[in-house]
Amino acid sequence: MGIILLLDDHIANQIAAGEVVERPASVVKELVENAIDAGASAIDVEAEEGGLKLVRVTDNGHGIAPEDMELAFQRHATSKIRSGRDLFRIATLGFRGEALPSIAAVAKVSCRSAAGDGGLGVRLDIEGGRIVRREETAAARGTDIEVRELFFNTPARLKYMRTVQTELGHVCDAVYRQALAHPEIAFTLRHNGQSLLRTPGNGDLRQVVAAIYGTAAARAMVELAGEHPDYAISGLVALPVETRSNRNAVTVVVNGRHVRSPAILQSLLAAYHTMLPVNRYPLAVVHLRMDPSLLDVNVHPSKLEVRFSKETELRDFVEKAVGRALSRQPYIPSGASSRSSRTAAPEQQSLRFSPAGGTGRVGGWPEALKERRWDGYPSRDSGNSRAGEADGKAADAPGSGGRPSKGRGFPRSGGTGSGASQVRRGTEGTFVPEPVWRAALEEPAAVAAAPAESAENREAAFPELHWVGQVHGTYIVAQNESGLFLIDQHAAHERIQYEYFYDLFGRPPEGSQELLLPVTLEFPPGEAAVLRGKLPVFEAIGVYLEEFGGNAFIVRSVPHWIPKGEEEALVREMAEWIVAERDVDLARFREKAAILCACKAAIKANSALSREAGQRLLERLGACRQPYTCPHGRPIVVSFSRYELDKMFKRVMS
Ligand code: ADP
Ligand code: MG
Repeated sequence: MGIILLLDDHIANQIAAGEVVERPASVVKELVENAIDAGASAIDVEAEEGGLKLVRVTDNGHGIAPEDMELAFQRHATSKIRSGRDLFRIATLGFRGEALPSIAAVAKVSCRSAAGDGGLGVRLDIEGGRIVRREETAAARGTDIEVRELFFNTPARLKYMRTVQTELGHVCDAVYRQALAHPEIAFTLRHNGQSLLRTPGNGDLRQVVAAIYGTAAARAMVELAGEHPDYAISGLVALPVETRSNRNAVTVVVNGRHVRSPAILQSLLAAYHTMLPVNRYPLAVVHLRMDPSLLDVNVHPSKLEVRFSKETELRDFVEKAVGRALSRQPYIPSGASSRSSRTAAPEQQSLRFSPAGGTGRVGGWPEALKERRWDGYPSRDSGNSRAGEADGKAADAPGSGGRPSKGRGFPRSGGTGSGASQVRRGTEGTFVPEPVWRAALEEPAAVAAAPAESAENREAAFPELHWVGQVHGTYIVAQNESGLFLIDQHAAHERIQYEYFYDLFGRPPEGSQELLLPVTLEFPPGEAAVLRGKLPVFEAIGVYLEEFGGNAFIVRSVPHWIPKGEEEALVREMAEWIVAERDVDLARFREKAAILCACKAAIKANSALSREAGQRLLERLGACRQPYTCPHGRPIVVSFSRYELDKMFKRVMS
């Protein structure tokens, strides 16, 4: 006798619920997606006890017709696709017809909906998948779904729920992402009666970012724009001052759907390349539009993952668009920032922008003057534990990340307002004999100069700075009419040298010099094989290596402008890097080689600078294409506006 049995609908729904409904936040996500698909212009989300007790989503969309009510809660019942062909051009967020039956299988659901403006609708109550009541009811056009006691009939699942705080973190994340994806919809979110979010629904993405991440973050973002025969991009990306310790602050939206896309994230990070410190991620909201046929959303039940059919082109397009948005944007962090506001409660969020800057702490030492260990830049979110995440998963998600300190003046080059910044330890050690860096300072002019037209922008952006002096042999003090500036001399020189060497490495190799004493590099067999395959990349930047026996290489010659005395160390570091990275293209290798040379050639901390050399350094810095961070992404300049100085000394009180 056969033993296979067709499962009844109820069990099938419970199984599907296991995939679709992982936690309260998944309920929120599915219900909000349905509201968006229904064309709502206002969506209200309410949760109690992290959503475990109640999730309620109210919308003003087109509603569900009375005769469709029961159907909506049946498996594979959807109004969004009609045929298999539709699967390849999906324009709605839902299409699987699984969410409502799955949710109804594991909770107590009450759905009230009206499809017209007659003031009359239908209410349907379902418990654990069984309809317990249906009645006509007074209702405005739209849908109102209450989901109570999630997992009441699946105790095993309930056991996996974390603390209310954790679940709430995920609920917030779900709503925040939808709000970021749909600035044209007015969202509200309340938890246990407390308001956590309110967006205006006027289409202004920056106001949504302000409501979620705070006004300072919103101000530090620049607009993305770009068109391509297949794609269009818009959105906001943060200047490198708004960084986070993980990638959750990057929101990628494709055709109105929030998705997780490693490919897009990679191209975004590539565009920031030397502007971000290691292991820091930018705050960014990237909106992409493309023909639905270029996109497969039917990869995973939660529809968070997608496949792009022309991924390489798309990555290239995104990287260029972000690069354009970031290029030559001024961002000098203020030294007078307050780092004490990171516990600001969500309900204090305001949609209105306060006037730029000037709300920093009065009195006390400016943070930037304190010696402290470098722990990332500007890391206003470090140490933030407001979310109280046990599993850390939702930490740094929108809103649970650090509330940035109050108003940064942006984008004025004087850098008014605030913005946490920290000072690197000035213990780089070794003293480099003056002639080395002086020569380097004088030489690059011709090469480092950017095209004339961007030179003009540059003058508008980077402030002209006048030397005042030097402290601790490490920081340059400079001023202009708008304020006081501290410059990390090593970081500044590293940036200058980086751009100098980057340009040199990009030229066709010429005038290479044989090493007096050829240097031999040896590697374990596996690594030697990698290196062997990369010899052409070395040649492209003018470094000639020759195989020498099984696993050894001889460095024959290097470009004549490589810092003297450092040839061996540099080539060794380049080789080690390429072996460790394995998959390196010429562009990245050129960048890395330039970083290594810049580091070797730059003046270190603890070196006295003459007034002339210092002033020249400032001018060269101002001539850089990107004078705000060193090639490792650390800040070069910190500012104190006149106003901030006056405030510190209580010459002004507000
Ligand atoms: P899907 O969204 O994949 O179609 P769901 O189970 O989420 O499947 O919803 C089933 C159907 O119920 C939808 O296709 C839609 O017609 C209807 N529906 C659900 N929520 C709403 C809503 N908020 N407003 C209007 N119609 C809705
Ligand atoms: Mg749906």
